[in-house]
Amino acid sequence: MNKPLILVVEDDAPVRNLMTTTLKTNDYRYLVAVNGESAILEASSHNPDIVLLDLGLPDMDGVQVIKKIRTWSNMPIIVISARSEDSDKIEALDAGADDYLTKPFSVEELLARLRVTQRRLAYMTAEVVSAGAVFENGKLRVDYAGGCAYLDGQELHLTPIEYKLLCLLSKNVGKVLTHTYITQNIWGRSWDNDVASLRVFMATLRKKLEAEPDSPQYIQTHIGVGYRMMKVE
Ligand code: CA
Repeated sequence: MNKPLILVVEDDAPVRNLMTTTLKTNDYRYLVAVNGESAILEASSHNPDIVLLDLGLPDMDGVQVIKKIRTWSNMPIIVISARSEDSDKIEALDAGADDYLTKPFSVEELLARLRVTQRRLAYMTAEVVSAGAVFENGKLRVDYAGGCAYLDGQELHLTPIEYKLLCLLSKNVGKVLTHTYITQNIWGRSWDNDVASLRVFMATLRKKLEAEPDSPQYIQTHIGVGYRMMKVE
């Protein structure tokens, strides 16, 4: 298999050098763009496997880059933001980014996010998804056609909302879903009290799904952002 090709979009030279050095020493190939316009150009002409996208670019907002790329491609995009750009990060996820890294980040974090995204990519291109009827992840099995879910062969007794949540998370395995995205999909709206009820439903779903709800294996919490179902080996 070819080494994965990563497009690094970052105007800050030291951060960019850290990323490209990390990629080079870990068997990735990479391309570089230092602004939004060249990022869109590189993405369209080289079709990279993953885009690492800084949100604060000199010529345009990184969110605009995501929106543009999403008009023709589902290529995974990991946004990189400073802590002060938390609302931008959520906007970026809602615009179609897959994951995020907050500056300053370690080399290990960067590599971990790339691995999560690669696993998601491998999973999404596998036949199991194109068939689309059954989702399997670790001991979890969701039978979309049958409308039921199983853990270790035992049927999970879920309420309709818990089941909807589980389907939404599993269909987006590996991807961070924001509170807004989830509540829009479950209730068709996103009010403050919907986010509060989401937390309650998530807690009851986890009690049924997770062996240890306090250290969840399947559903990860992203504080202030949302939730992600992890691909379990
Ligand atoms: Ca920047």
